[in-house]
Amino acid sequence: MSLLEIKGISKTYPIETTLWGKGKRLEAVKNVSLTLHEGTCLGLVGESGSGKSTLGKMILGLERPDQGEIFFQGKNLFQLAAKEQKELRQNLQVVFQDCYSSVNPRLSIGNIIAEPIKNYEKLTPAEEKKRVGELLEKVGLSPGNMDKYPHQLSGGQLQRVNIARAIALHPKLIVLDEAVSSLDVFVQAQILDLLADLKKEFQLAYLFITHDLQAVHYMADRLAVMYKGQIIEMLDDIKQLNQL
Ligand code: ADP
Ligand code: ADP
Repeated sequence: MSLLEIKGISKTYPIETTLWGKGKRLEAVKNVSLTLHEGTCLGLVGESGSGKSTLGKMILGLERPDQGEIFFQGKNLFQLAAKEQKELRQNLQVVFQDCYSSVNPRLSIGNIIAEPIKNYEKLTPAEEKKRVGELLEKVGLSPGNMDKYPHQLSGGQLQRVNIARAIALHPKLIVLDEAVSSLDVFVQAQILDLLADLKKEFQLAYLFITHDLQAVHYMADRLAVMYKGQIIEMLDDIKQLNQL
């Protein structure tokens, strides 16, 4: 069974202009189908505006498709009971591009990372501190960072914090939406290395959304190319990328 199965999903948005007349809609995603297997990374590339983020948001349940279905661990994402939704949120995480706006600036790093854990487990303050410290170390930061605030960290450090929060509940899939794109190239390489290590250690699957072909070549096992809302190319073996 594939971890994620997308069947013919489409999403339109209203065009907010009178130029083309009322009621006209933009087709952000058109009849997209794909599968993602456990422990693998699917790269999703395409120019800006091709529909990558919209597809990511539908998988995360942040947008509802007009048509089609999405199955995660065999369950229809849009027909879940409340209990199943909670379980799903545990297994499906996201890291966005903008590391600063992804976190609450008033929370300490320790509390940011502990946020998801608190929703699922009852831990004593000492247990929580231990878990947060372990997670910080797992992403290459010293536990002493838990008392700092987001503005005291660099972009790369803060993206490590976002990754620590994403892995805190041992998810099956992380949607990485341009997760390294705004970092400088040296830091990007470090974060990609970290993501590759975590994938191996925890059998994580990634949907790796990016416009960076080099990063995708490094990270992805399979590659989907989007253009104007459609998947126009699907490479099941990333090594074929050399032939593009
Ligand atoms: P990206 O680099 O991911 O394409 P964008 O700048 O296109 O980022 O979009 C940033 C955010 O604004 C996204 O959350 C996207 O869904 C939203 N967005 C993009 N285009 C529009 C639009 N025409 N109207 C409203 N929101 C939009
Ligand atoms: P990508 O991530 O590949 O840059 P997006 O999924 O962000 O592409 O956007 C696909 C298309 O949908 C773009 O034309 C964008 O402007 C439009 N779009 C995205 N989000 C919204 C929104 N919330 N409202 C209206 N249009 C949107």
